[in-house]
Amino acid sequence: MTSDIDRKGLAPEYWRTTPLSDMTRLEWEALCDGCGRCCLLKLEDEDTGQVAYTDVHCRLFDPDTCRCGNYAHRKRLVPGCVQLTPETIDASAPWMPETCAYRRLHEGRDLPDWHPLVTGDPDSPRKAGVAMHKSSVPEWEVDEDDLEDHIIEGML
Ligand code: SF4
Ligand code: SF4
Repeated sequence: MTSDIDRKGLAPEYWRTTPLSDMTRLEWEALCDGCGRCCLLKLEDEDTGQVAYTDVHCRLFDPDTCRCGNYAHRKRLVPGCVQLTPETIDASAPWMPETCAYRRLHEGRDLPDWHPLVTGDPDSPRKAGVAMHKSSVPEWEVDEDDLEDHIIEGML
């Protein structure tokens, strides 16, 4: 997710005609709806590889703004933070939230009708109940052994 999502000057419905791999940086970044779901800690079942989301967020995540607290330096501060690019989307899409624009377009689906690029309203993910505004707890408040108790059933 980005720190500040710029959606100015984009061609109408460009995501329907431009493949992910051909998008400009602006077009790519504008796809992020700012939901913050990818900043939640995940658990992976060692046997099945199945991923479960928890309601525990990364220590850099700001639940008030629903943005990364230090987007520019996130890789240094949180080495496990995955940078989504056209090169990494193949491997990342399966564990991204089902609502995520990158995953949806990668899978040949359209953006959801509450996406800011569709509504023109940057707050529409929160209004649709998708964004993680103040609805998660920071990782420093949860013991690693208790993460299973924080799994959000059905979110992926
Ligand atoms: S889940 Fe996708 S759309 Fe939501 S913040 Fe993360 S990258 Fe952006
Ligand atoms: S560092 Fe944490 S808060 Fe920032 S983008 Fe990565 S997962 Fe999200």
